[in-house]
Amino acid sequence: MNRWLLSLSIPLVGMTALIFTLLGYILFSIPDLAHHVLALSIALLIIFILTALWTLSILRRHLLPLTDLLEMIKDLARGHAWRRLDPGASMGMAAQFAQEINRLAERMQKLMEYQHVQDDRLEAVIQHMASGLLFINEQGRVVLTNDKLITLLGWHEHYHGSLYYTAPLPETVVEMIRSSFSNDHEEQQEVFVDVGVQRIALSVLVAPILDGHGRNRGVVIVFHDITKLKKLEKVRQDFVANVSHELKTPVTSIKGFTETLLDGAMYQEEHLKHFLNIINHEAERLNRLVDDLLQLSQIEQGRLIYKWQRVDLGDVVNKSLRVVKGRAEAKKIALIFNPSEQEGWVEGDADRLQQIVINLLMNAIQYTPEGGRITISVIPWHKGGYGVSIEDTGMGIPKEEIPRIFERFYRVDRARSRASGGTGLGLAIVKHLVEAHHGEIEVESEPGQGSTFRVYFPTKQPALCQVKREVR
Ligand code: ADP
Repeated sequence: MNRWLLSLSIPLVGMTALIFTLLGYILFSIPDLAHHVLALSIALLIIFILTALWTLSILRRHLLPLTDLLEMIKDLARGHAWRRLDPGASMGMAAQFAQEINRLAERMQKLMEYQHVQDDRLEAVIQHMASGLLFINEQGRVVLTNDKLITLLGWHEHYHGSLYYTAPLPETVVEMIRSSFSNDHEEQQEVFVDVGVQRIALSVLVAPILDGHGRNRGVVIVFHDITKLKKLEKVRQDFVANVSHELKTPVTSIKGFTETLLDGAMYQEEHLKHFLNIINHEAERLNRLVDDLLQLSQIEQGRLIYKWQRVDLGDVVNKSLRVVKGRAEAKKIALIFNPSEQEGWVEGDADRLQQIVINLLMNAIQYTPEGGRITISVIPWHKGGYGVSIEDTGMGIPKEEIPRIFERFYRVDRARSRASGGTGLGLAIVKHLVEAHHGEIEVESEPGQGSTFRVYFPTKQPALCQVKREVR
């Protein structure tokens, strides 16, 4: 339409101008008509100029402003879709064209915004992944890393643009990448890395990135930290070994003495009584061990039901003292509980609190020689609550051993603990129960002088406990 109008209007204007010029020339050559013709010609010329201007304006509105269009297309090619043409500045097809190109730009802008959102999301996922991530392109250069990878491998930079074998990757990982590049296969291995003073265990997966034609476009490497998992596995293995060992000792003993009795010792009364006592003693130990193990597993699995109530720690101590009194007397150990410091209200499970105090008192009696002294007091807790302090004049614990005494089956003096019938689980149970009460434990000890164990409990259990209680 525009081209047609343009091609038609120019010759039309030209022809009209020519006809008027010729007509003016002929009429002007006739002398009488000369001054009339001059006036007419001027009038016609004015009409002609106005008509030409009007035609040009129409033409201009039917044609798109080409410079604007060119600028807009250049911007779109550069990925800038913010510019728009003014459809009101043109008419007909040109106006439609401007509208369509504006719609195209609008759509492109929306797509680009969507792309940005997607990019941001992908970036957030990559950066906040629990695993370390590394992308290497087909030229073997590092193109993407996330923060987790930097922390895991203890890097100080991202090495973007570096060849992968120049980055400080573990040698095994470099080999895995090399082999993944050469055979397009996925590789997975467990790798140990020393980061500072720590040794971490990583599960590393190297996967090739193949395009639609099966061409290798690089590799992606995922580093998963399995240090905790490995430690747990080790704890589990140690636990099974320890339990087997602990169970084996009394069982072997019971079996041995039973066989001796059956071999004839049962006919000698003093042997019979002596061996049966030993068997009974070992069976009790076995029973205690199984009880402690069951209880520990119940606590760890969160299956223990706590009856939360307001409990006076003074009352708990008095009840516990009644249970252990006989043992202390047998060893001539003085149990001193200062009556002026007997009140301390906390929120807890009375039976479990008593169990904690009994376990600590039993240990204090166990590891204090005859004629010793155990001082018990109820003390305030600076975090809001009360605690029980149990101070003995026993053998004490070397400083370096203190952090380990709460581990299952850990004993400072193995022979003495076993001989006393200890299961090695008492303090592990204490620790779990105190934690379940949102309390704290403190230990101070001086070898040869004695030990002080302090357990603290809050006046009010946090709200979380109340919820748990209802759920159960
Ligand atoms: P056990 O059954 O062996 O007593 P525990 O878990 O109760 O097991 O205690 C772990 C270890 O901590 C004990 O074997 C002992 O070596 C040490 N221990 C605990 N309490 C005391 C204490 N009051 N004095 C000295 N050593 C203690």
